[in-house]
Amino acid sequence: MKMTKKHDWILWSVLSNSNYLRALPMQVVEKQYDVVVVGSGGAGTSAAVAARDQGCSVLLVSKDPINCSDSKISEGIVTVRGSETDKDTETELSSNIRIQGDDIGRAEHARAFAEDSQSAYEWMRQQGLKPHFDESGKAKTLGMAMGGHTQSRSIDHANGGLDYAHALRQALTEKQNGHLDYMEDAWFLDLYVQESEQRISVQGGLIYHAADGVLVSVKAQAVVLACGGIGTLYFPHTDTMRGNTGDAYAIAARAGAKLVDMEQIQFIPFAAVNPPSHQGLIVGEPVSAGALGVIRDATGKVILSEIMARTRAECAAAIAQAVEEGRGTDHGGCYLDLTDNIQGASAEPFRYVMKTKAGSLLKVVRASMGSSAARFEVPWEVKPSAHYCMGGIATDENGQVFDANSQPIHGLLAAGQALGGLHGSNRLGSTSLAEAIIFGRRAGYQAAVSAPLNSGSDTNEKSVIEYYLSMLGRDGESYGIDITRALQKACWKFIGPARNEKDMSELKDSISQREQQLDDCHVSSSKYFNQSFIDVVEARNLLQCATFIVQSALSRKRSLGAHFRTDSRPDNLGKRPFSVQCFWESEGQLKIVHEDREASPVGARIKLRMQQGGKILMLKLLRHLPLGLRDKILIKKYAAAAGGLPKENVHEA
Ligand SMILES: Cc1cc2nc3c(=O)[nH]c(=O)nc-3n(C[C@H](O)[C@H](O)[C@H](O)COP(=O)(O)OP(=O)(O)OC[C@H]3O[C@@H](n4cnc5c(N)ncnc54)[C@H](O)[C@@H]3O)c2cc1C
Repeated sequence: MKMTKKHDWILWSVLSNSNYLRALPMQVVEKQYDVVVVGSGGAGTSAAVAARDQGCSVLLVSKDPINCSDSKISEGIVTVRGSETDKDTETELSSNIRIQGDDIGRAEHARAFAEDSQSAYEWMRQQGLKPHFDESGKAKTLGMAMGGHTQSRSIDHANGGLDYAHALRQALTEKQNGHLDYMEDAWFLDLYVQESEQRISVQGGLIYHAADGVLVSVKAQAVVLACGGIGTLYFPHTDTMRGNTGDAYAIAARAGAKLVDMEQIQFIPFAAVNPPSHQGLIVGEPVSAGALGVIRDATGKVILSEIMARTRAECAAAIAQAVEEGRGTDHGGCYLDLTDNIQGASAEPFRYVMKTKAGSLLKVVRASMGSSAARFEVPWEVKPSAHYCMGGIATDENGQVFDANSQPIHGLLAAGQALGGLHGSNRLGSTSLAEAIIFGRRAGYQAAVSAPLNSGSDTNEKSVIEYYLSMLGRDGESYGIDITRALQKACWKFIGPARNEKDMSELKDSISQREQQLDDCHVSSSKYFNQSFIDVVEARNLLQCATFIVQSALSRKRSLGAHFRTDSRPDNLGKRPFSVQCFWESEGQLKIVHEDREASPVGARIKLRMQQGGKILMLKLLRHLPLGLRDKILIKKYAAAAGGLPKENVHEA
């Protein structure tokens, strides 16, 4: 009988709901593309589009629905060099990134970022991303330098990350010369690797397509890993999407890649502590503390002032130290006190700027701490929350991944948060959404020009497929999700915002025990949305990432940037900067090496520190001015930042 499409569909829905089909082993479906891109946030989408526009056939794989990612839930603030002043040169921006990251990042990455910052934003504009405009039609910035930036160069958007994600979606749907398919609810599991004495090459990989209940074995000339970060390792102390299980780092390392600076996890300093539903969610940035915001410990003592001129790392370290020394609140936090900002005639202008520039953060404040907190009348109880992984896969500035010997792994690229080497020890606010597009586009282009597959070569495809198939239907005492929950607690405690050698060594030992437990986990045999299978896959990646972080952190003996050690003093100023790098030497054996980095010129470092010192001094002076004069200065500043103030917000100072 000749079946129409409709008959096909009816037969399929009857079969797929029947016990008969469910009892069959999971099928392995074969596919071939020029390029596979893993992750559909800013980095993955722009990589996929760049490869498609080069005429490639591209498969975009995403475990979350397409474009659902940190990119979409973000504040949508993007660094664009020169957006406020022409004085903002490429040299200034790249030097700003490097020095604030303590020079442990790669100079090439910072240069590439500065070079492409404007063209990447222009590309997003072409996809429909709309900034606010001033009267001359120029895109408006926030009107102030975000913490650690030397210039005001951050552009915000009316609907935050939603606007950014809608532009990504637009880019995907455009018809161009290449061909792009996407696959949602699909977990990329591992890469197919071919190893010879000279080099490693990647030739595709294995995907679990949960919605179709099949494994997809896909061959490709290149794979771009753009899977975001590792925030879920610290859940519930994180503001990131749950899909951030460090898959890119774990998958790349299993394929022989080197990772850099994995001890550098950015903890955003100001996140809600309570109720549990809001715990970990971002409520502020250093810049949103206003000119007069301070951090207080639980006794009310000011532990850091002039917040606006500080980096995220400095603020998070101050809170972590107070908590560690027993001066934290019951929830393990401190207070962000913005009440001085509403003392005089500048109160309403301050509220107006906050409402227009940080409206979505204030919604979280209102929901978690109440309306008087959202009006800045009482201090906010806050604590740091895992936000971003500054370490990542070692690459060149085009996303080409390196192996343990710093040789390119043919056909493997990384972009966005998956890539390491840009931010060093501190990421400047608003640089990540720009980074995603800059390095996504570079990696997509690079993937497109990779040489095609060597036919007839042997990869580990068979053993990869067997490994995952053999898990299905396994009886076991424990569950992947329980291992993850226990690991999350331990990681927050031992490799969270405050660390010491003794605790980290303990964690290192406990990770090995949990890894053994993983082999004994129960995994159901079901094909569709097999959660127990996904839990084990993700728990394995999380455990491996915890190993990368703890061993890198143990090897960096002194505090530096986001890596705050309570058992040693900060790294000596003037010491040669180095990056901590790791790779699997053999199964279960992680090797840690240090690579020296070139320090930025002394003059540039002194200049930046003086600039920051100058800002701190100005803010200190401002605090001590008579109220009337202070209000006049502040109202002027707020008006400039907001591009004018509504009349009802301005009262005589
Ligand atoms: C609350 C919040 C606010 C932020 N605000 C800003 C801001 O205003 N400005 C700024 O610059 N940065 C901001 N950031 C940081 C920024 O959003 C992220 O760092 C950036 O979006 C990362 O982009 P990405 O493409 O690398 O990863 P993501 O956008 O996180 O995308 C990762 C993708 O990978 C997929 N994935 C993961 N693993 C797999 C797998 N194994 N198989 C298949 N798919 C997989 C996910 O489903 C997802 O689609 C914010 C972050 C948060 C959490």
